[in-house]
Amino acid sequence: MQGHGQTGQQEDQEAARAQAPQPDEGGRRARGAAAGRQVYARAALAAGAALAPRVVRALRAALAGAGGALLPSACALCGSVQRDVVCAPCAADLLRAVRRCPTCALALGRHFRCPACAAMPPPAFDHAHTLGDYASPQDHLVLGLKFGQALPLAGWLAARLAAELPGAWAEARLAPPDLIAPVPLSPQRLAARGFNQAWEIARPLARRLGLRADPVLLQRQRDTGSQRALDLAARQVNVRNAFRLSRPSRLEGLHVALVDDVMTSGATLHEAARVLKAHGAARVSVIIALRTP
Ligand SMILES: [Zn+2]
Ligand SMILES: [Zn+2]
Repeated sequence: MQGHGQTGQQEDQEAARAQAPQPDEGGRRARGAAAGRQVYARAALAAGAALAPRVVRALRAALAGAGGALLPSACALCGSVQRDVVCAPCAADLLRAVRRCPTCALALGRHFRCPACAAMPPPAFDHAHTLGDYASPQDHLVLGLKFGQALPLAGWLAARLAAELPGAWAEARLAPPDLIAPVPLSPQRLAARGFNQAWEIARPLARRLGLRADPVLLQRQRDTGSQRALDLAARQVNVRNAFRLSRPSRLEGLHVALVDDVMTSGATLHEAARVLKAHGAARVSVIIALRTP
């Protein structure tokens, strides 16, 4: 598996990309972002979370601008006015099913065996599923969620995943997971963003599948910083011990599914899965919205 998990520097660059004007996108991106901010603002303020004053001010400002419909009416990718977050033609076009490695979800193309898995020891997770490649234009589904606070995108991604996962698990001869958990952000990044995009996907996903979800099963005990300059071995060292269980949990014999927005190499997910297995999880699946090709 090449490349690695999302890093601070990568995220900064992605934020810039997310905010760069796109052809035919200005109005609908602004509307989607505003709707997402308002939805999140209500939830966050209602939850009475311990938020920084700056975040509370931003949430109140978002709510002050509310009043219109909270649901986007324009496709997040092409802007056509319709009733879903992404229109049916865009969804069919962008997230076409392709043959993928059942272990790391890399698109196999003409390869019979996964070149990434052939070059690496097996990861700690047993199965991976993704909707598609982390590439333009569908990368804007994740960029809009993370950096545009377009929270409805998380629900749309979760609905797509919920439609695909039962079949994917059946094909892999895996029973559905006993527990779904998001990959956690560091406390610093969570405070800066105000939400964990992985949990925003995991929560509606678990609800749709009728599965138990735990938003704080894992805790990131340190910020792993940028991994861009690191080779594979150094990256694995960098994420080593980045996670711990946030409280004693009984995972013996359980199939746990980890949810994240993007998987690059899988080193972060490997490390999180390793911790779950060290605490007794029998199987770990990873569910990612998009996979870096
Ligand atoms: Zn569309
Ligand atoms: Zn693979």
